[in-house]
Amino acid sequence: MCGIIGYIGKKQNVIDLLINGLKSLEYRGYDSAGIAYLEQNEIKVIKAQGKISSLEEKTKNLNVLSTLGIGHTRWATHGKPSNENSHPHRVGRVTLIHNGIIENYQELKEMLIKEGYTFQSQTDTEVVAGLLDFYLKQENDKLTILHQVISMLKGSFALGIIFDDDFNHLYAVRKDSPLILGTTSNMNFIASDIPAIIKYTNQYILLENKDIAILSEEKIQVFDENLNPVNREKLTSPVSIEEAKKAPYEHFMLKEIMEEATLLEKLYSLYGFGTPSFLEKLPDLSKYEKIHIVACGSAMYAGLVGKYMMEEYADIETNVYVASEYRYQKNFYSNKTLVIFISQSGETADTIACLRLVKQLGIDTLALVNVYGSTIAREVDKVLYLYAGVEIAVATTKAYLLQVALLSMLVYHTALAKDLLSEEEQEKIKMSILELPKILDELLKKGITYEASQILSKASDVFFLGRGIDYATSLEGSLKLKEISYLHSEAYQAGELKHGTISLIEQGMPVVTIITDERLIDKTLSNMKEVKSRGAYNILITTKDWISSDDSVDLAITVKEVNPLVQSLLIVPILQLLAYHTAKIKGCDIDQPRNLAKSVTVE
Ligand code: GLU
Repeated sequence: MCGIIGYIGKKQNVIDLLINGLKSLEYRGYDSAGIAYLEQNEIKVIKAQGKISSLEEKTKNLNVLSTLGIGHTRWATHGKPSNENSHPHRVGRVTLIHNGIIENYQELKEMLIKEGYTFQSQTDTEVVAGLLDFYLKQENDKLTILHQVISMLKGSFALGIIFDDDFNHLYAVRKDSPLILGTTSNMNFIASDIPAIIKYTNQYILLENKDIAILSEEKIQVFDENLNPVNREKLTSPVSIEEAKKAPYEHFMLKEIMEEATLLEKLYSLYGFGTPSFLEKLPDLSKYEKIHIVACGSAMYAGLVGKYMMEEYADIETNVYVASEYRYQKNFYSNKTLVIFISQSGETADTIACLRLVKQLGIDTLALVNVYGSTIAREVDKVLYLYAGVEIAVATTKAYLLQVALLSMLVYHTALAKDLLSEEEQEKIKMSILELPKILDELLKKGITYEASQILSKASDVFFLGRGIDYATSLEGSLKLKEISYLHSEAYQAGELKHGTISLIEQGMPVVTIITDERLIDKTLSNMKEVKSRGAYNILITTKDWISSDDSVDLAITVKEVNPLVQSLLIVPILQLLAYHTAKIKGCDIDQPRNLAKSVTVE
């Protein structure tokens, strides 16, 4: 959500640098963009509502060599997307960009209005610029001013700040919103994520909550919340420039789906699947009687697949919760409860809030996270990384698949720790898992028939059906379709449809049903017949070839049968490709669907 880039260093074409940086952050989702830079001892601000191309249009004839600039893509929270509400905001002698939400902005705004300030925008951000300017009139030391203002702000913020009386420095602070500092010997950067700076450096520093950073051309100084100078570790990013490019694919989403087999293989080998080394990274899994999985969006659906597996194989009661609900509801714990948090970015605001709540109660926590050093990864007791690399398409694909893969490994090792698997079962699962990347690779290379996507692209409503773990998988398939092709779609437990929702089935409406569970074939097939007799067009995704010839089936996609513990890892790519091709036929903006942001850093 929102993209931040800031530069200080040797003179260069700063407009290009800022705009290219913002383009590489487009995946985070935004609705307007803006930049500010130093030119002839003055700060110039240019903003545009809409895509970065509108900002480019406004700046295309400018060729400015400069030492200082900041850029921002805004995902509106306070005030509609408009030029006035876009960042950077400038009040008095302060120019700033902000990611996050200032919860108490109204009361601060009123205080400033009493002091004679007027505001140009409806944003919470402009109030922070006003506050800084207000204290700048009373005090010259920037650290003192920033410290004072941070102590007054409630909410989340990553800020990049330029003061008019100090063009030799760029200032940055963060609390509960992501911000990294990129560093070289003669250029320094602030950014929301690595792709924005990878062209210049792979060396970066992660700021802790409430840190204040002062960047100059040749150095970065960091102060903690008590204003003590601190040495934050310099890290090297594994992200390559290649990774941040989509070629030869038309979209990042397709590129990321096509990476799944290689990443799965890497995951198994990095964690040493089937060896004790995996368990060494974790708490004693045999001791838990109850597991809560807390997450949002696709990560929550991955958790739901995990629930079915954990209960079936490891015999532990597992419940899945939406993070934005979990923190406000009554939860029941014991000292035998483990809470698992899942988040690609590790910055999902609601999930972070739940993690803090659970930690306060002294309950064991574990997280499945992709981004190294992210807030969740740092604050949780134990972390398992997904090693998915950067995921740039807003709709997650490879990270979701790796979340499910990691959960199945967790389940397998928990069952092992609890002595629930016979040697024969262990061998079977192990064999199946180790040959999975190759099978997945073949499946991805073969792709899917476009016919199913053509049918979906003409529909206005779609149902996904499944029972048990197939239902959990179908939820992600349905979400993917909604996210990128803007089709209304609902996933239902196949047996539940007739208790009301079946009234929505109309002539020709596509119904996508998943059948992989041997035990549920007959029941689910009956449900397909029920919708068929009411006019549905049945698309079946199955591992059982023989069901395809049933007369209720209009179109079938068959997938190789593997061990049930990992079967959904072969269904998911089919669903992702189905959504991808449907969105492509419909001409949708696949990598940046409307209204969506990649990492949801606001609650
Ligand atoms: N709350 C701020 C606004 O609405 C910042 C939003 C963002 O993170 O882009 O302008």
